[in-house]
Amino acid sequence: MASSDRFLLRLISNRGESTDWPVHCQITFREILEIISNVLPGVTTTAFEYEDEDGDRITVRSDEELKAMIDYHMLNTDSLIKPVQIYPKACRTPRKRNLHGLKVNTKALPVAITELKPKSSKNMYDKISAPPGSLRTILASGQVSHEELQYIEILGHGIGGTVYKCYHTASEKIMAVKVIQLDLTPEVQKQILLELNILFKCESPYIIGFFGAFFLENLISICTEFMDGGSLEIYGAIPEPVLGRISVTVVKGLVYLWQLKIMHRDVKPSNILVNTRGQIKLCDFGVSTQLVNSIATTYVGTNAYMAPERVLGGEYSVRSDVWSLGISVLEMALGRFPYCRENSDSKVFLPIELMQCIVNESPPSLPVEKFSPDFVSFVGTCMQKSIKSRPTPQELMDHPFIVLNNDENVEIVSMWVCRKLEEIRGRSVNVDSPNQCEPMVH
Ligand code: ATP
Ligand code: MG
Repeated sequence: MASSDRFLLRLISNRGESTDWPVHCQITFREILEIISNVLPGVTTTAFEYEDEDGDRITVRSDEELKAMIDYHMLNTDSLIKPVQIYPKACRTPRKRNLHGLKVNTKALPVAITELKPKSSKNMYDKISAPPGSLRTILASGQVSHEELQYIEILGHGIGGTVYKCYHTASEKIMAVKVIQLDLTPEVQKQILLELNILFKCESPYIIGFFGAFFLENLISICTEFMDGGSLEIYGAIPEPVLGRISVTVVKGLVYLWQLKIMHRDVKPSNILVNTRGQIKLCDFGVSTQLVNSIATTYVGTNAYMAPERVLGGEYSVRSDVWSLGISVLEMALGRFPYCRENSDSKVFLPIELMQCIVNESPPSLPVEKFSPDFVSFVGTCMQKSIKSRPTPQELMDHPFIVLNNDENVEIVSMWVCRKLEEIRGRSVNVDSPNQCEPMVH
């Protein structure tokens, strides 16, 4: 220890490499996870371990457990000179989260994927110790239970979660099931399921359909409508007429949610889904405060689409969603993330650099020579740094770009999705074969 209120944290990777980091005794658990993600770029983690005097490993996964670790080391006179060694519990290697890999070290992929299994293998929980039946019944909301789900393939990974394409035997429906590992008490689990119940009331063509959610041990599964075009992050640069319809849908989706007093809180291309029928729908909105908080405290991530006031720690407002819409549409128009480094070998930002750009720089804009004046103005209107000048979703409905594209023309979107999917699938044929896969309780 350098002084009585600071100590040296020694992070030891599973390959035995160590990095020292001076920290304050008041450091929080979350801050340590952030340090781990900065120091060990290949590792995402939700917990770490330290050794007690007998060499036994003790796991830390909360502020209380961290405090116990610090107290233990403070009492130990040796630790006044020796660093406190911690061993991050590695999950899997992070994956790129948007077109340009801007989100670094944010991926925790706690759901282990088992080996390929034959199609007839129905139930993912067969080979794990089954939880008590009562738990299954109590901790479920909606009509979907895990026994009725067959896992077909992985659709994608997000912060802490994996989305599976599933077949629901009872309804004979294909569903998208998002599975997130969260270590929560049954009380908190129940609260989350209660909060998610409001999704049954959400009936809008612009919002993803919800079928139910359940906890099985430490995994929550959220079952929603499957969109065969996936999310917009895979499509690269999107033409203006299609983006016009996408913008209208997102604005209408936000207006609808706001009528239910729900703010989205995570508008970005990967949370806007499309299908070959030309429908566009918003997903992953923050309907359950408890779920949002649980994910935020368990998984460390950087949100590149965050409005400046959010970066600065200000209150979330429905106008913050409008900023996120603006930057998402701008990214999808340009085919690249709008903030980029001009004078550096690496085009990839560190999260802190990106946050500084969002707060300090003028907002990026569409090049006027390539896009219509209405579109340029729309993006500029959404991306006003001053929250007071930024409109609400309802006010955006009167913007000329929205008025022009508000024709519910699904054909234009449908044709574009089908053409792009053919291109994408043509490119990946022989490379990707669908995975038969199953999530496992840890
Ligand atoms: P974050 O965790 O920050 O929200 P994300 O949105 O990229 O990041 P997920 O929400 O876990 O991560 O989604 C991962 C991917 O799964 C999406 O990018 C999308 O391709 C796919 N996906 C999600 N929901 C559906 C759905 N209902 N239908 C089809 N594909 C989906
Ligand atoms: Mg998502």
